Amino acid sequence: MLIKFTKKGIYCPQADVYIDPWMPVNYAIITHAHSDHARYGHKNYLAHNHSEFILKHRLGNIAIQTIPYNQTIKINGVTISLHPAGHIIGSAQVRLEYNNEIWVISGDYKVKQDGYTIPFEPVKCTHFITESTFGLPIYNFPERESVNKNMNDWVKQNANEGLNSVLIGYALGKAQRILKGLETDLPILLHNTIYQTNEALDFDNSKYLKFSTDYKYDSLKPHIILATGSVLGTSWLNRFNDYKIAMCSGWMQLRGARRRQNLDMGFVMSDHADWESLNYAVLATKAENVYVTHGYKSIYAKWLREQYKLNAVEVETLFEGESVNQNTGESGQDDKQILMV
Ligand SMILES: [Zn+2]
Ligand SMILES: [Zn+2]
Repeated sequence: MLIKFTKKGIYCPQADVYIDPWMPVNYAIITHAHSDHARYGHKNYLAHNHSEFILKHRLGNIAIQTIPYNQTIKINGVTISLHPAGHIIGSAQVRLEYNNEIWVISGDYKVKQDGYTIPFEPVKCTHFITESTFGLPIYNFPERESVNKNMNDWVKQNANEGLNSVLIGYALGKAQRILKGLETDLPILLHNTIYQTNEALDFDNSKYLKFSTDYKYDSLKPHIILATGSVLGTSWLNRFNDYKIAMCSGWMQLRGARRRQNLDMGFVMSDHADWESLNYAVLATKAENVYVTHGYKSIYAKWLREQYKLNAVEVETLFEGESVNQNTGESGQDDKQILMV
């Protein structure tokens, strides 16, 4: 087998490379810069061009080689290339080919376009590793136009009532989508983590205000505040009284998720594939062997076996979905915070 599932992560012995390893290795191919996939301590990194600065921003001065999508490199006879995963900027599926065995490791992906990230492209293969963060039929995400409209209507409504609007979203990926989706003349104030992430992404910050502790916002005019989940339940928010607060996440499709986080509103905005997209993506690869990671993996693997007669199995990985640690604003595996995807 070209790929093995090891204690350190997904491994290709022939090329001696790991994909998103969670323990230090000599050579790591990184699907994307979310911190549950891009870890510190590897000797050599390979990632997509667009991931370079954000990886350096998060991991420091790492030894990194970058390549564009669809360009192949060879390591000990194994042909390796990266392909758009549509998850966040720079996110890539990793294709490895050797002796007619073709593996595609999708990392995290989404099929629906977000208007910012280069869209997902299915890649034909014999073995496909898929995530299943939202691998249940109840997850059926709305198109971005309708989500953006609801978000803008909500902001307008709040402003009419003299209220600030606080939007909560993950700093890498979600925050940029929210900013792209907002159509407003109101001042937009960014949480530091988001401001810095934008800088690392070369995302234009010139229209936005940067929060700092001595920042005095003009309380006469309603603002939009974009922050990470780290501020939830903290006094950081008090300075923006009175405000309404909303989260942008795929989990907002779950009844109860909004209530548990004391949110006024939830917008279903995900960087992962919903149920229909997962099935589309898996079938589009034409792979007969499918390995399911992240989330509802046993249920989804069973579905693939029974519905499509695929050789589908679940595999354990350490990266069990993005979530945000409230203290650091970084992603981690804290179950309580899993609502941040
Ligand atoms: Zn991710
Ligand atoms: Zn992930």
